[in-house]
This record gives sequence, C-alpha cells and structure tokens, in this order.
Amino acid sequence: MQCNPTVDPVAFDLPELPYALDALEPYLSEETLEYHWGKHHRGYVSRLNDLVQGSELEGLPLEELIKRSKGATFNNAAQAWNHAFYWKCLAPSARDRPHGRSAAAIDERFGSFDAMRSLFTRTAIGKFGSGWVWLACSAEGALLIEATDDAGTPLVQGHTPLLACDVWEHAYYIDYRNDRTGYVDAFWHIVDWEFVERNLAAAGSHRDDAIKGARS
Ligand code: FE
Repeated sequence: MQCNPTVDPVAFDLPELPYALDALEPYLSEETLEYHWGKHHRGYVSRLNDLVQGSELEGLPLEELIKRSKGATFNNAAQAWNHAFYWKCLAPSARDRPHGRSAAAIDERFGSFDAMRSLFTRTAIGKFGSGWVWLACSAEGALLIEATDDAGTPLVQGHTPLLACDVWEHAYYIDYRNDRTGYVDAFWHIVDWEFVERNLAAAGSHRDDAIKGARS
C-alpha cells in the first residue's frame, strides 16, 4: 500500500463546533462564533501548523506540545487546546447547575454552587488583560479556581481543567462591547455541566491510574 503524499501527518485540524453557530443565542451571537471560532481559533491552529512543521516538535500530540514548547509555539498550541476545550464547555439548553459527583465536589470545596460561581465570576471580572478562568482539579484531587494569562493553561501545572471561560475581549466584544460582567453573567446560562461531570470523572480515573502505577 502506498502512502498518500498529500496527507500531512502533523497537521492539526480546527475541530468542528458541537452545535450550530447560532445555537448559543441569545447569550453568544452567531457573529461572535463566526469570528471567535471561525477566525481566531482557526488562526491559532493554522499558525501552529506553520510553526511545528519541520521542527523537532513535529508529530507530538497537542497536549505534549504544550508541555514542551515555549514562545509562539506554546501560545498557539495552548490557544488551540484552550479553545477546543472552551467550545465543549458550552451548550444550548444547558441545565443551570451541576449535578452528581461534580455538584458534590463543588459543595465540599466551596461550600455551595453559588459560592463557587461567585468566586469564579469575581476572578473572571477581575482578571487583568487577556486570559482564561478555570475550574480545575489538582493532581491531588482538590478543586480550584485559577486565572491564567494570555494563552496559559492549567495543563502546565499538571491540573485537569473542568470548566473554562475565555476572557479575551475577542470572546465577547461583538455582543457585549467592553462589558465583561455581562458576558460572564451570560456564560453561566450556557455551561455544559455534563461536560464538567465527565471531566471530573476522567480526572479521578487518571489519578487512580497514577496511584496504581506508583504502587506497582
Ligand atoms: Fe478566545
């Protein structure tokens, strides 16, 4: 069997959105998603492919690339990952609060869902400049809320992201202009808590595997 010479084995693709461009209205408009996903996210993926092709990092999975790269390659790799994750954090017709294991973990760590949401919101509104706000799980299994600058991601600290809010202005300027508070208030209407629940379950199984590996 011959290899197809037109297939580029290192190219990263722009992931499809898990919903239609207008599915998050009225909270995020079709125009916002056209620009945020169709132009900004696409741009990070495209620049990443240009940077990695022919370099020593060629062929690495995206998460590995994030851990091993710096400068422009890190910025574009992390933004490619962060945005793919962010789109999955959102859903139309989402339930208004977590349930199951994530609800219990949030209550245990923050006292209540409302207390967690309030701290996350304050962190998002208070984040100076461009960046991200995360609900994440530490390697020890503790939930935490953290803000990262620019392309920063909790993956670098070995934390498992559970939920992300993009607080770059490009995430909200079309719909909310400079009103980040309005954007963050809207964000809570479209969080996909099923996705958060799956991320927490995956974080737990990774931790169990690591403990088993350390004992064997
Ligand atoms: Fe963004």
